[in-house]
Amino acid sequence: MPKKDADVIVIGGGIIGTSIAYQLSKRGKKALVIERNDLCSGTSGACDAYITPHTKKPGFHLALCLESLKLYANMEKELGDDLEYWQRGGFQPCEDELSFQLVSENAKALMAGGLEVKMMDIDEFRRHEPNMSPNLTGALHCPAACQVNPFKLVMSYARNLKKMGSGIMVNTEVRDLLWQDKKVAGVKTGKGDFYADYVVNATGSWGAQIAAMAGLEAPIEPRRGQIIVTEPTSTVINTTMQSGMYLVIKFHPEKITDETMKRLGSGFCIEQTGDGTILIGFTREFAGYDKSTTLEGIEYIVNKACTYLPCLRDMHVIRTFSGFRPYVVDGLPLIGPVEGIPGFIMAAGHEGDGVALSPITGKLVAEMIAGEPVSFNIDAFSPNRFIKQAQQA
Ligand SMILES: Cc1cc2nc3c(=O)[nH]c(=O)nc-3n(C[C@H](O)[C@H](O)[C@H](O)COP(=O)(O)OP(=O)(O)OC[C@H]3O[C@@H](n4cnc5c(N)ncnc54)[C@H](O)[C@@H]3O)c2cc1C
Repeated sequence: MPKKDADVIVIGGGIIGTSIAYQLSKRGKKALVIERNDLCSGTSGACDAYITPHTKKPGFHLALCLESLKLYANMEKELGDDLEYWQRGGFQPCEDELSFQLVSENAKALMAGGLEVKMMDIDEFRRHEPNMSPNLTGALHCPAACQVNPFKLVMSYARNLKKMGSGIMVNTEVRDLLWQDKKVAGVKTGKGDFYADYVVNATGSWGAQIAAMAGLEAPIEPRRGQIIVTEPTSTVINTTMQSGMYLVIKFHPEKITDETMKRLGSGFCIEQTGDGTILIGFTREFAGYDKSTTLEGIEYIVNKACTYLPCLRDMHVIRTFSGFRPYVVDGLPLIGPVEGIPGFIMAAGHEGDGVALSPITGKLVAEMIAGEPVSFNIDAFSPNRFIKQAQQA
């Protein structure tokens, strides 16, 4: 093999790729992050900030998120930066009896999975969040929910990994993989060839394109999410909120009767940032790689949001944006090596959970590559689950 440029090449400079490279660097491995645009130019720069275990599927997904939460608790200290990390808890407000009932059922499964949550009626909920509409049915409360600024986290991972001797190349597109003795040995880019012992695919919504270079069909699709941002204002909410309808859309779409809601996949989500702006979302649509925001989507979000939080009617929207969730059909990311493709590791497909799962994904991939015991059973996330299905078909 030609001279190595790094121990590990990580394709993708988002919240997953930089986390992996940081965790590898901590273990004495030299990582090289290769990003075709700039850090955070993909979904990690066009998303919300929620770390909400109560929106995860009870089972492996929730358990993985709880592991990530443990890592987040010490992250600012470890990285030495202010990440706008707050543990203020989160609510799942319900707009009707159906969502309240489904959220209540889910609460039991979440508690069985080790998460502390509580259902509240509307009066109790409004004692915590007095600006919320009295016409709502109630809410689930999760004290463990947190927030982090994804930009600040990515930049901090980058600063720290460089300090430990790893590197980042931006404006460098990976165009193909390089092979040596039937093993992935590097990447071909617009700026030349680069070699390493391992190549990690952390390209999120573009993960299927890199996987295809390895001859793998990875079922990852972009799922657009539109968000609106208001002018900065005094505090109107004390926590983060993702509506119970979000759970219905995610896990029980067949129960939705509103055709526009079904098409746009739109629930109500809201968070207030450190500078007072309010992020209100969002949609969950299949629109290919079309990054525009649409009048229909924005109008739906605004109208819905005002029914939950009536004081929003008096505020000005200053911008809208959209990002692509890396959607996988079974709702779980693809993390780990791929049968028959040595040297190639997948770490993509985190859908609407990549911010929450960033620390644990980085840790697990780094453990695998460094030859350490992997601290969480990742069988449920193995990319091989799809390869096996394809062979059976
Ligand atoms: C509206 C919205 C709200 C969200 N809110 C939350 C939230 O509150 N909490 C949460 O946990 N998750 C949330 N998510 C999901 C989360 O943002 C994503 O799961 C996460 O950002 C994915 O990170 P990533 O690093 O895998 O992908 P990305 O950030 O997209 O990074 C992948 C990178 O790969 C690069 N790339 C692609 N192809 C190539 C190539 N050929 N060569 C080199 N580089 C390449 C891209 O340019 C990109 O920068 C949200 C998503 C959306 C859309």
